[in-house]
Amino acid sequence: MASARNGRPWIGITSYARTGRRDSLGLPGAYVDAVWEAGGLPVILPPVDAEPGDVLERIDGLVLPGGGDIAPQRYRGKPHDKIYGVSEERDHFEITLLRAALARRDKPLLCICRGLQVLNVVLGGTLHPHLPDLGEGIVSHRDSESAPTRHPVSVEPASRLAAILGTTEILVASFHHQAIDGLGEGLRAVAWARDGVIEAVEHESHPFCIGVQWHPELQRDEPAERRLLRAFVESCSDSREGVRREARSAAAAR
Ligand code: MN
Repeated sequence: MASARNGRPWIGITSYARTGRRDSLGLPGAYVDAVWEAGGLPVILPPVDAEPGDVLERIDGLVLPGGGDIAPQRYRGKPHDKIYGVSEERDHFEITLLRAALARRDKPLLCICRGLQVLNVVLGGTLHPHLPDLGEGIVSHRDSESAPTRHPVSVEPASRLAAILGTTEILVASFHHQAIDGLGEGLRAVAWARDGVIEAVEHESHPFCIGVQWHPELQRDEPAERRLLRAFVESCSDSREGVRREARSAAAAR
């Protein structure tokens, strides 16, 4: 039974892990603002033990945002003293939800920073635990605890991402200390920092699944990043239209 609601597509955004004395479940407001400004209705999804299909039925697209690190045992990694903010609860919820979303393929997916790493891990890939360990020549991908840094990224000209951004050379807002090491199955790397670190991926067969290691939600004043956010939300609208068309023709056939 398709819903009768019109207007903006509902975009699920998974929340950050519990924090503080009251186990607050939150999300940096920039993710909400970015989805809203791009034409979507943001819906924050806290980690609960839900059937992923029940969640996916009710949204038109999914954003996996940034946040703390993924537990290293999720990608056969080793403990590292710079790993921080691990939440078993959040890992489980996001991995389960994303795995189901990838299997059914009907909901556009935008995976940002940690989200790109979750996407890679779900598909069997691995992560560099701490980029500064790779030594000299590594670009600064995170300068401070509180504010993103900026670094250039080159985008593969023949990629969908380049077509969406409308450019192959961008300066990104970067705030990560981990990155993709082994690429997950079905993913294609489509952007790199000067040090070779993978900065973006596309799924080879999913209709819309893009992961970026940077923060488009913090670059909403930049046309290329706005185009990425809009392209994602428009794809969510299109997939919802498709569902409604099917419902109408099913009703007409009764
Ligand atoms: Mn970076």
